[in-house]
Amino acid sequence: MSSLVSRFSFSDGVITTAPHPDPSDEMALGAGWIDLQVNGAWGKDFTSDPSSIWEVGARLPETGVTAFLPTIISAPYEVADTAIEVLHSGPPAGYRGAQPIGLHIEGPWISPEWSGAHNPEHLRGPDIEVARRWAVSGVVKMVTIAPELEDAPVVAALLAARGVVVSAGHSDADFTTATSALQGSWTSVTHLFNQMTPFHHRAPGMVGAALLSNRACGVIVDGVHADPAAVELAWRHLGPDRMCLVTDSIAATGLGEGTYLLGDVEVAVSGDGPRIGTGDLAGSTLTMDRALANLVRWTGSTLEQALDAASLVPARMIGATDRGRLAPGFRGDIVVLDHDLHLVETIIGGEVVYRSKKG
Ligand code: ZN
Repeated sequence: MSSLVSRFSFSDGVITTAPHPDPSDEMALGAGWIDLQVNGAWGKDFTSDPSSIWEVGARLPETGVTAFLPTIISAPYEVADTAIEVLHSGPPAGYRGAQPIGLHIEGPWISPEWSGAHNPEHLRGPDIEVARRWAVSGVVKMVTIAPELEDAPVVAALLAARGVVVSAGHSDADFTTATSALQGSWTSVTHLFNQMTPFHHRAPGMVGAALLSNRACGVIVDGVHADPAAVELAWRHLGPDRMCLVTDSIAATGLGEGTYLLGDVEVAVSGDGPRIGTGDLAGSTLTMDRALANLVRWTGSTLEQALDAASLVPARMIGATDRGRLAPGFRGDIVVLDHDLHLVETIIGGEVVYRSKKG
């Protein structure tokens, strides 16, 4: 089963030689998937318990994820501080899971009009001192900020100058404000379509600005957060260089229907997705393998393009220059898929860390 992987050689977890793609192969290979928005899974929620990052990371290879950004939603600042400490202290001994390669802090600098499942009590205006702290933490990789908020441009410029990706989302910005943000410090868009000013032909909103920009956009391709036709529309505008698959997965991922926590907000999960009392969606139970299969099914993208949307595009977005391709010098993080796009194996640093029981 791992015959394809045995054609690679690795040194210290890095690819030294890679095979040429062979169309006659029964399995497909791709670079390991990078999920830039993971709130939790398997009953764990990072905002309620940042220490669970390693436990969830250890299981993410079951979904093809080899690197991820644990995401902390709107909460008191101490929660982000704790998550920073969790990453600083490193993995438990013998850890073989997906690598948390930085934090995504989504909120509290977001719009009360578009806070979705975030507890409105935790929302704050952008804070220069806190931004400075995050910027020098070494582990905060992405911050979602609504660009219309007071001081947002100053804070975004400060973070961007330190290499932190500033992403536009949860925002009431009109088309003009969103466009100027996306021409400036905002180099990414958080879950395109969801919790932002929508497209209207006389008020094209952040959705219009994002599609017309040159920035990559995270999209939750589960068919609930955006209709498959909207995903196709996004695909036609974003194309293979700007479409980034994210799951926005919550604690319910990998478990059944029921009631879960996202931060301190209760979320009921049914066939219609995870929702809070108001009916607003609260993240997803999507996994990257399903997102990839949906993208291929709904947009006509090739498998190679869909694989890039799950690896190369997110790697580029966060400046992870050693990830996203299967070539010498890149990390030995690999997914193996069968003809039906089912995940067969996940390899991290040249080692098989997950093998499907079906395979
Ligand atoms: Zn969100």
